[in-house]
Amino acid sequence: DIVPAARLLDAGMISAWLPPRQRCAHKGEFGHALVLGGAPGFGGAALIAAEACARLGAGRISLATAPEHVTASLVRRPEVMVHGVRGAGDLGELLEKADILVVGPGLGQGSWGQGMLQAALASATPLVVDADALNLLASRFSGHRRDDWILTPHPGEAARLLGLSAGEVEADRPAAARELQRRFGGVVVLKGAGTLVAGPEQLAVCPHGNPGMASGGMGDALSGMLGGLLAQGLPLETSARLAVLVHALAADMAAEDGGERGLLAGDLASYAQLLINPVT
Ligand code: AMP
Ligand code: MG
Repeated sequence: DIVPAARLLDAGMISAWLPPRQRCAHKGEFGHALVLGGAPGFGGAALIAAEACARLGAGRISLATAPEHVTASLVRRPEVMVHGVRGAGDLGELLEKADILVVGPGLGQGSWGQGMLQAALASATPLVVDADALNLLASRFSGHRRDDWILTPHPGEAARLLGLSAGEVEADRPAAARELQRRFGGVVVLKGAGTLVAGPEQLAVCPHGNPGMASGGMGDALSGMLGGLLAQGLPLETSARLAVLVHALAADMAAEDGGERGLLAGDLASYAQLLINPVT
């Protein structure tokens, strides 16, 4: 056992939860995800998340990002509805239209990001909370607890949330994951080699993935994948387990093709699509 008392995630669960689509399916069945991120200067993270969300099969994807990122985002991914927002006041009806939110990739911790996070936390929509949104939950936005969110800290973010050092988190990762879940509710994904998924009752561990994933944007791809599965109506803990698994297996496929060094987060989504549509 790599982690005692934890369930091992295995590839068999992908097809069990993602059966082939019905012939008469329409996009409304697969949900509308809204990614909130990309403060000025950090547009790539939010775009990587939105793209991964789309590749995991969300019906519609919106991205609310700083206005300067709109053109580049549309060129890279015209399937995403990209909205330039100068602040939360520009969100209009975007929040109400979304079935799930992904908040954090490229959010920053300045006024832009704070406004976006505040708007996300004020809505009753299930959400994925990543990156600087987690850092803000550890500082200015402390005291929140929800059952309808997935938190995706890496060890540094987990340490800030728990008031520990990253070394202390790494010394007993299962204990840290369980403690985060107990304090914050919902489902906690503690990232890093041997990613852990802590739900209210169970702990699962992912034996896949590789050190090529130690590069910028990898976490943003994961939060987008989580959003893509949640949008399609999969339960919170199932979405977390499946997204972690698909993300790691996609990285393993990418590394097999191109090697670990130089693996790019933006490459994962198309491998993930292969994994969620197995050849029968
Ligand atoms: P972030 O630090 O937010 O960019 O997230 C990095 C992502 O890559 C997480 O999903 C980690 O679990 C994964 N990752 C990073 N380094 C490794 C590694 N050495 N082995 C397996 N997964 C890793
Ligand atoms: Mg990250």
